[in-house]
Amino acid sequence: MRSGFDEGEVPGDGTFFEPEVETLSRDALRALQLERLQAQVRRCDAGSPFYREKFRAAGFEPGDLRSLDDLASLPIVYKQELRDEQAAHPPFGRYVIAPLSEVRELHPSTGTTGHPVHTLWTFNDARIIARFTARLLYQAGTRPGDIIQNAFSYGLWIAGLAVHYAADLLRCFVIPIGATLTDRQIWYFQNAGTAVFLSTPSYSLHIAERMREEKVDPASIPLGIGLFGGEGGTETEGTRAKIETGLGIDAFDIYGISEIHPTCAAECMAKAGLHWAEDHHLIEIIDPETLRPVSEGETGILVVTHLSREASPMIRYWTNDTARLDSSPCACGRTHTRLPGGILGRHDDLVVYRGAKFYPIQVENVIRGMEDLSDEFLIVLSTDKKTGADVCTVVAEHLQGQSDPAGLREKVRRRLREALQVTPDVALNPFGTLERTTHKAQRLRDERS
Ligand SMILES: [Zn+2]
Repeated sequence: MRSGFDEGEVPGDGTFFEPEVETLSRDALRALQLERLQAQVRRCDAGSPFYREKFRAAGFEPGDLRSLDDLASLPIVYKQELRDEQAAHPPFGRYVIAPLSEVRELHPSTGTTGHPVHTLWTFNDARIIARFTARLLYQAGTRPGDIIQNAFSYGLWIAGLAVHYAADLLRCFVIPIGATLTDRQIWYFQNAGTAVFLSTPSYSLHIAERMREEKVDPASIPLGIGLFGGEGGTETEGTRAKIETGLGIDAFDIYGISEIHPTCAAECMAKAGLHWAEDHHLIEIIDPETLRPVSEGETGILVVTHLSREASPMIRYWTNDTARLDSSPCACGRTHTRLPGGILGRHDDLVVYRGAKFYPIQVENVIRGMEDLSDEFLIVLSTDKKTGADVCTVVAEHLQGQSDPAGLREKVRRRLREALQVTPDVALNPFGTLERTTHKAQRLRDERS
């Protein structure tokens, strides 16, 4: 395997960015993963009291790891543990292994609750992140020389910089605009020749809405593809269709999580789920009740292990995201495993209402599949003051003037009932009354007493 590109060499062979790695046989990939996992676990055991204590408490010695299946006997790492560890051993916790002299960047988690968890990148980490991010951009159709308009936030939020570094490896021209200046975004679409656009799905819909208001025809701009991440939704039929028509592009999902990597999985042109860079990540799907791995294809919690991360490696990190796995061959020729349908929901956001269970993303798919509604919605959970029962209300925006245009409310209720197997209340607000966001949207509000 090549370790770097020669100066001036154009990367990629037209189909794959790194053909040898991306098409490795599953057996060779598993062997590579085992070798890297054993080295990573030994390194964590020797260099991190945080991991050593966890391993010993679970009765685990690094020599016990003989196959990838043995990973299931290692303890899981939860975000709260990382927070507690950083509070007890400030500033970065004892899971940081690399000496600070080798650290290049710091990136905190973006969660809205509690103290942020800091993760660090060494020089090598930044190099590897840039490399597999370039691979992900390439597999969705980005090519050397393309103009990339990067509307992921720069600064502490990690995806902006990862894409920026990857664009350099891809020999692309970057417009580092970040998640701001909506009118300028559209101006660059029209005048700069942007071919590839990146943002959160929420922000892309906000831009599409502004384009409609300003009567900018998506067919008149040269934009070809977009990768959307930072929140789920790109792979739901309703949202994908809205982004694709609104911007006149092919839309792809890209996934990252700050404790793992900014951009660690993305769709290929076959749109068959999020492909992982499995040479750097070991993927498990875990049953949230039994904490055992589920069979391939079954839904559970995504748990990820860093195979090459130096500064703050995660061994079995509980992402709290729900997904399922498919390692069968993909039409694109890549052998790396996929999450069909992308992230199916946040485990915390699972709404349990009158015996039914659903994720906000299922509501999103209904709302965005209806022509008379805007892209925005909010799910409010509250308590009925008289009966004390839970009430679930889906608030959406209608695109017409009346309060209940021609029985639209009833139509939305019916569609939601079909999708969720339970009927929430529906409130229709006039267009423009729900909050718009350029970053990550909060679509579930719990006001239960
Ligand atoms: Zn594929």
